[in-house]
Amino acid sequence: MRVFNFSAGPAMLPVEVLEQVRDELTDWRGSGSSIMEVSHRGKAFMAVASEAESLLRELLAIPKAYKVLFLQGGATGQFAAIPLNLARADSTVDYLNTGAWSKKALAEAQRLTGRANVAADESASRYTTVPDPTALRLTAGAAYVHYTANETIGGVEFPYTPETGGVPLVSDMSSTILSRPLEVQRFGLLYAGAQKNIGPAGLTVVIVHESLIGHARPGTPAVFDYAGMAAEGSMLNTPPTFAWYVAGLVFAWLKRQGGLEGVAARNRAKAQLLYRAIDESGFYSNPVAPGCRSWMNVPFTLARPELDAAFLSEAQAQGLTALAGHRSVGGMRASLYNAMPLAGVEALVAFMKEFARRHG
Ligand code: PMP
Repeated sequence: MRVFNFSAGPAMLPVEVLEQVRDELTDWRGSGSSIMEVSHRGKAFMAVASEAESLLRELLAIPKAYKVLFLQGGATGQFAAIPLNLARADSTVDYLNTGAWSKKALAEAQRLTGRANVAADESASRYTTVPDPTALRLTAGAAYVHYTANETIGGVEFPYTPETGGVPLVSDMSSTILSRPLEVQRFGLLYAGAQKNIGPAGLTVVIVHESLIGHARPGTPAVFDYAGMAAEGSMLNTPPTFAWYVAGLVFAWLKRQGGLEGVAARNRAKAQLLYRAIDESGFYSNPVAPGCRSWMNVPFTLARPELDAAFLSEAQAQGLTALAGHRSVGGMRASLYNAMPLAGVEALVAFMKEFARRHG
């Protein structure tokens, strides 16, 4: 039996994709070996790789002037790669601080650039808000503006794309990419670790405008230099072939779901169902301002924290797993990525109602 797994990542993958992986695992399309066991430069894998890229380009309507890179090192690797490629040692870079992941990105920029300006800081609301779009303290001539489109731990998601007056906009989209349509042309660069909405861990997708490629500062490690990676089709060294292959299957699955419009409608419905159940319960609460509540990561607390352990073990017994909040904040968190079916959210809401009735 497959459980409804609410993990924030690595997260649920579509069961159809897992079944296809299983069916193709030992003998990929009659080749006599799995796709993991062949050269990344061979015909078979090259076809898999370029098919994945074209599907992603189609799903996100990525303009030609952008390169799509399939890298390693996680989103955390990009926290460093971005300042190394986009800023000089004496550049000013702007960061919007909306929570745990923005802070980590900012910390790398502080190590690697002359001046990392905090252009917005939501600590006063305990990171339950996003900044007012007109109140960003941006630096004229900054090398770029960085923000975290969705804070996976805090459950805060930007309902707007920041306006930067021509300065390249860089976004960490790890936990929101592919959850709804996106205007790629508004961004200089966007990046995401794969392990939430793309595929298995180990792959990092970077979508970057060509004008930002080729300016890495001296000393940038070759695997983090966008120019070298773009020139080599992300095969400067051995890429994470299995994760890349599975990502391609996930992209094809998304296309069959009606693309990002179709997926967005389902994601909105899933999130609304859960937030309504929380808000109407008088027992559960979510601290995030209604205008910027995440569709993907829904943190919530119980009226009596001493019931947390019972909540988690009873949920687990019903096949509702990985609901514990991040270790830094406690409470609960339900992640509702693309692969979580509506039936999973319905089962969670039914369990939550029944638990609150018994303990409320
Ligand atoms: N940014 C966000 C928004 C994340 O959710 C995560 C991982 N949960 C990271 C960055 C770090 O990603 P990785 O583990 O791939 O380095």
